[in-house]
Amino acid sequence: MLGLMMDAPLLIPSILEYAAKYHPNTEIVSRNEDHSLHRYTYAEALVRTRKLANALNRLGLKAGDRVATLAWNNYRHLEMYYAVPGAGMVCHTVNPRLFKEQIEYIINDAQDQYIFTDPCFAPLVEAMIMNLPSVKGVVVMGSREQMPGNILHRALCYEDLLVAESPVFEWPQFDERTASGLCYTSGTTGHPKGVLYSHRSTVLHAMAINQPGLFGFGPDETVMPVVPMFHVNAWCVPYAAPLVGARLVLPGPRLDGPGLLEVIRGEGVTVSAGVPTIWMNLLNHCAQTNQSVAPMRRVVIGGAAVPQVLIDGFAAHQALAVQGWGMTETSPLGAVSVLDTRHDDLPAEDRMALQLKAGRSPFGIEMRITDAEGKALPWDGKTRGELEVRGPWVASAYYNLDDRDQFTKDGWFRTGDISTIDADGFMNIVDRVKDVIKTGGEWISSIELENLALQHPSVREAAVIARADTKWSERPRFILALHPGKTITGAELRKVVEPFVARWWIPEDFIVVDEIPHTATGKILKTALRELYGVENHPDAQKM
Ligand code: AMP
Repeated sequence: MLGLMMDAPLLIPSILEYAAKYHPNTEIVSRNEDHSLHRYTYAEALVRTRKLANALNRLGLKAGDRVATLAWNNYRHLEMYYAVPGAGMVCHTVNPRLFKEQIEYIINDAQDQYIFTDPCFAPLVEAMIMNLPSVKGVVVMGSREQMPGNILHRALCYEDLLVAESPVFEWPQFDERTASGLCYTSGTTGHPKGVLYSHRSTVLHAMAINQPGLFGFGPDETVMPVVPMFHVNAWCVPYAAPLVGARLVLPGPRLDGPGLLEVIRGEGVTVSAGVPTIWMNLLNHCAQTNQSVAPMRRVVIGGAAVPQVLIDGFAAHQALAVQGWGMTETSPLGAVSVLDTRHDDLPAEDRMALQLKAGRSPFGIEMRITDAEGKALPWDGKTRGELEVRGPWVASAYYNLDDRDQFTKDGWFRTGDISTIDADGFMNIVDRVKDVIKTGGEWISSIELENLALQHPSVREAAVIARADTKWSERPRFILALHPGKTITGAELRKVVEPFVARWWIPEDFIVVDEIPHTATGKILKTALRELYGVENHPDAQKM
């Protein structure tokens, strides 16, 4: 017997309609390419989004067509986030920091029909356009004055398109499982893979992250997604914030320490979200200039392991750093490390040990760890296995790709992360399957060693890679970037590591580099480091 409740589909534009109705005057502040600020309200954003939906139809785009964006976190990109899926098309957010060849591969794989680009990426689009046969047109997301002069002659102007349109638009009603967004994984090995979100998965995920204890935004808050809107829907913040009427600040292209602090203080940002590297830069800038991150009270940090220096650093400013774990394939939220009253009486170091874990899954996500044969392993906080997840906002397949290896026969997604889960459900990422160091048949966690190295005051950034070893097949090696003017000796490094790990975990050597390379989404590019520094005897290696 079916229930007798209304079958109202969960569709993305309903979020903005809601915000415009109940929080019409709440602001969206957006930093432009020239660093000036643009302000408007949810009510005004809705009017422009409806006009954009009309414009998309006038361009001849049909239901299911993919529309690419190459854009920073700004208000026009936000309008695309709602108008494209709302009109029935798929908003394909493309990461402009990828190599040109990777972007071409992605756009061709998606068969994008139009590209909507920020003015600053017009030269990039011009350089690629001949290799993109599916693309029928380019729209530059700016005003007439921002149109590129002597390139992309046939490109359309976003503001001109909107001026011509009616602010009246009836959002079509369709199956909530309809595709809404497309995002390719950052692909440190092999080709990037497309993850195709649906209206249902996106709305459920936005509602889920708004629970207290997770991102938990409220109408009294000013929320700033620093995580780029070209990466996993900026962790869904541009959907979750309007859903509760929170004020939204979109920081634009300037994401260095001074650029972020200026907008945090100037616009009164109270909560934000982004990857660890960004926050390290912010805290370093605060320390150098003796400024505080106030009024920011909460920061969700994920995308890579969160080191203790970051949690301590924010605590020193009375701000809470919350670690989250997720992937492009999981929309992204899979786990958050939040403590509850049961942890109040724990000693400080035990509380910190929990905060350093990736955390517990919210309602909606199920987790398990499995061995090489796929057998479920115990939740004892010690046994390591590959993490598998399932739930309504987890990918069930890749777009245009038959990659059965990543999905189990009984319907779980294999994350490629190695983790432990304790009896309380706190999951800890030990490593990526491909980054873990296998020495004489045993595993060493690169993440754990990296966190220890960061305790040394000279170390700005630390990576541990597997180097070749005649006897053990692989051994760990530190690759370190230091703070300006600082030095480090092997003995000092050994001292910060030794008390906390087994003897055979301690690397024999380390290499100091000027900069550690990052992926387009700000993660340490271990593949490049292994290529550069993975040989057994490297001339730059210093003994520990
Ligand atoms: P992406 O799909 O590019 O967002 O990358 C997802 C991957 O980032 C995961 O599979 C993890 O390896 C890594 N990751 C995300 N969050 C964390 C975290 N809190 N700790 C450790 N690794 C993380």
